[in-house]
Amino acid sequence: MGLLFLDNLDLAGKKVLLRLDLNVPIKNGKIKDNTRIKAALPTINHILEHTDKLAIMSHLGRPKKRETEFSLEPVGAELSRLLGVDVVLLDDCVDQSPSAMFGQLRPKQIILIENIRFFEGETKNDPEFAKEVAKGFDFYVNDAFGAVHRAHASTVAMAECFDKKHRAAGYLIREEIDALSALMKQPKAPFTVIVGGAKVADKIGVMLNLINKCNHMIIGGAMAYTFLKYRGIEVGASRVEEDKFSLVESIYRNAEARKVQIHLPVDHVAAEKFDEQAAPINIDSPRIPEGLMALDIGPETVKEYKKVISDSRTILWNGPMGVFEWPAFAKGSIAIAKAVADCSGKTLVGGGDSVALVQQAGVGDQMDHISTGGGASIEFLEGKSLPGIKVLSE
Ligand code: AMP
Repeated sequence: MGLLFLDNLDLAGKKVLLRLDLNVPIKNGKIKDNTRIKAALPTINHILEHTDKLAIMSHLGRPKKRETEFSLEPVGAELSRLLGVDVVLLDDCVDQSPSAMFGQLRPKQIILIENIRFFEGETKNDPEFAKEVAKGFDFYVNDAFGAVHRAHASTVAMAECFDKKHRAAGYLIREEIDALSALMKQPKAPFTVIVGGAKVADKIGVMLNLINKCNHMIIGGAMAYTFLKYRGIEVGASRVEEDKFSLVESIYRNAEARKVQIHLPVDHVAAEKFDEQAAPINIDSPRIPEGLMALDIGPETVKEYKKVISDSRTILWNGPMGVFEWPAFAKGSIAIAKAVADCSGKTLVGGGDSVALVQQAGVGDQMDHISTGGGASIEFLEGKSLPGIKVLSE
């Protein structure tokens, strides 16, 4: 049996337990970006068209214990605003069975279970905890694409509490799977993969998998300096992971065998220290002088990368080209975001930071697909099986 989708369920009047990824950035109780909440609305609205007995669960951050800063309260308020229904926050889902609450609710009220990671059984994928939460529900729906790479109680053990006909994936998961699988199956050439961000280790799996499919690999962010250093180019005080040279070597070996072109920065914007207030220093050569650390790609690199991007028919982008959170070192990333947006080929952006960056550059609407799941989309693109999807397909 394949993956069952929300459309296949007869939800009329039934009790639905819905796992979402509402893990949004929150500062001082205020939501900074509600993209993930908005992405969940089609699934919620579909369910509410058929039944008002809906309990939603999600994680928020990585709380060690119950802490106010990780409460879903602001998320409940935002959901309520967007949906026009009352959202009742349920503090406890073990001693207080969520499904037993429906009898006490007024019309147009739905349940939001407090941060599911406040409960010990969640990250342990504990079947007993899962049973407690899931009891009394008729259907389980998972639309938390950003969490399907984790085998936790709300993504796996709870799904297992329902038979195959009573558990399904929501619209967001379907959209993500369709977009990512299309990219993996038939990417039109030239296919360019743009990788940036902090660490080689985080991206190496995707790079090794995609090097078998792409024509160009553009490298930026801190990881570019590990690549440059491996090529024998001095990178000053830039961040280098020397213990990852063997991984870099395997990228080059595969690239050579498949005639994939690897593009590295030819100039940089550097600083004397890793500090938001540090003065940006332009370096117009690949070599970075001693004592300076590169924090962004330079204008010549942007020009070269833009050329490759505009000639591409498929683009996958994951990870910023520099420390884009700091305005003095964001120019390279923003220029690349705009170049990807202008590309007439298929464009897919994945990974939490790249998504924030694309929104910051104001070009989110111009991408063909923005993946909401950072780790999940990376593991999908690595070709790994995702536990939260696998359990729904069995
Ligand atoms: P990732 O989550 O792996 O995509 O990494 C994103 C992080 O990498 C962002 O917080 C960036 O600030 C950081 N980053 C990008 N370029 C650099 C750089 N040249 N040096 C240090 N950190 C960087």
